[in-house]
Amino acid sequence: MRPGTVSLVGAGPGDPELVTVKARRLLDEADAVLYDSLVPEAIRDLAPSSVERIDVGKRGDGERTTQAEINRVMVRRASAGEDLVRLKSGDPCVFGRGGEEAEHLAAAGIPVEVVPGVTSAVAGPGLAGVPATHRDHASSLTVVTGHEDPTKADSALDWDALARTVTAGGTLVILMGVGRLPDNVAALRAGGVDADTPVAMIERASRPEEFAVTGTLDSITERAREVGIDPPAVTVVGDVVSVRDRVTDALRAAGTARSSGGAVRDDPAVPTE
Ligand code: SAH
Repeated sequence: MRPGTVSLVGAGPGDPELVTVKARRLLDEADAVLYDSLVPEAIRDLAPSSVERIDVGKRGDGERTTQAEINRVMVRRASAGEDLVRLKSGDPCVFGRGGEEAEHLAAAGIPVEVVPGVTSAVAGPGLAGVPATHRDHASSLTVVTGHEDPTKADSALDWDALARTVTAGGTLVILMGVGRLPDNVAALRAGGVDADTPVAMIERASRPEEFAVTGTLDSITERAREVGIDPPAVTVVGDVVSVRDRVTDALRAAGTARSSGGAVRDDPAVPTE
């Protein structure tokens, strides 16, 4: 039997209107959708009810499904001729294990297609009025995971090098960085980044509960705690954050003018600086 195709599809940051036209078509045509826990129901529901939905975020026992289990399910079903959509938040290949899954499927002889999505690394800041790059403020963009312990000797990240990209005027975007925010801030300070470098955190970008807070490298940990930033959130460090103050009123007006999307919702008790 001819195997089905697995499409590694990016679902975007959460707003169903930020799902690509191609992703929508594949959701329509799939036999089954395997989705991660970060993909909101509103996007899963874009697939017709006849399409089987498989939650590969959590197993029945509440534990995370292992990557090996996900790979096995995909290979078994695709080998039986099913066309699968492997739906991941943001872009499938930005901290989404899209590359690993593509390799595994390719080795098993399963045809694979990658369908890029809108990554939270760029969309999160953008929606909050922080451009990833800007001719006057940043000419480079670095995206890292904040999940690793920066003091660990075998850390895959060189925080001194990351600090240098910021002092050189670049933008640093940290995903998965809420838990280790204080450690990552300390690592950047130790690498020579100024205490008053602007920082923004954007929680649940593009979703109705989108929430953003700004501060400086020295104040952001306290700020995030005050307003209660929880994952998923994107942290952005660099001069581009200062652009936000000049566009927030316009973003707010657009959010009020339209029924949904893109509005900036700072905690009114915590003024931006
Ligand atoms: N592939 C995804 C990233 C997956 S890693 C992408 O391209 O966006 C998970 C991390 O992504 C979260 O810890 C958070 O840092 C970020 N993230 C995903 N969706 C988000 C959202 N709607 N708002 C803010 N951060 C988000």
